[in-house]
Amino acid sequence: MIVCTTPAQMQEWSREQSATGRRVAVVPTMGALHAGHMALVNEARRHADVVIVTIFVNPLQFDRADDLASYPRPIDDDLALCAESGVDAVYAPVAAAMYPDGFQTEVTPGRLGELLEGAHRPGHFQGVTTVVSKLFLATRPDVAVFGEKDFQQLAIIRRMTTDLDFGITIVGLPTVRETDGLAMSSRNRRLSPEQRSAAAVVPHLLDAVARVVVPPVSTADLVAIAERTAASEPLARLEHLDVVDAETLEPLDVVDGTRPVVALVAVWFGDVRLIDNRRLV
Ligand code: AMP
Repeated sequence: MIVCTTPAQMQEWSREQSATGRRVAVVPTMGALHAGHMALVNEARRHADVVIVTIFVNPLQFDRADDLASYPRPIDDDLALCAESGVDAVYAPVAAAMYPDGFQTEVTPGRLGELLEGAHRPGHFQGVTTVVSKLFLATRPDVAVFGEKDFQQLAIIRRMTTDLDFGITIVGLPTVRETDGLAMSSRNRRLSPEQRSAAAVVPHLLDAVARVVVPPVSTADLVAIAERTAASEPLARLEHLDVVDAETLEPLDVVDGTRPVVALVAVWFGDVRLIDNRRLV
């Protein structure tokens, strides 16, 4: 397994692969790898001859300095896991290689980036589209694999890939969960044991919402159920539950059964913010 730390090194390796007729897949991550990431790696392998994992904690997409500072960075464990899993190349640039002095060009998502998480975390998705563009240009993949856990991010990346003619196939994969239903996440490592058991309330509240969806049902009723379920867990603070059109991500007042709908949720445990989502229709 090769480890590249600069865009030039990464581009050179990827060009060699393409020149010898190999299809290249990339799995972009921020590291602290878990079984959810490795499911993306396995999926990538099905679509390509060589798999690149990128590991970069992207300062541009953090809206809180404390979240950036406390984001886990177990790089040695991550490299060992990638090597064991048959990853061909890791791209792990330092921030100075990604954003050298004088850096100023960014990629701005449109309406999809303003909604939902975009409203709660100003600048977040602009940071994501900028870094993913740079990672695409450094790794030069045929295919890129992302998780549906970050539902809005996946929608924005699909849109960006089309809008900017990247010519890369985007593959989305369902969320990988712990046995109690909690979506695997690098941020779960920051939960205390008590917060970790309390966090099962996140999938539970999505279950509770999904159970009562017999169209037509009002979003206000669904939010009330989510609030009641979250209130049963003292360590949880529900930030928001949004019920939206699964394609446009525009908010819906009523789930009427005529179009695909998804519920997106963010819940705080102390200073750790967890997100999850569930298809309702
Ligand atoms: P992150 O390292 O959290 O930025 O995530 C990197 C990629 O892994 C993104 O495409 C995520 O959507 C995906 N991912 C994170 N957690 C999971 C999970 N539990 N199941 C599936 N994909 C995931």
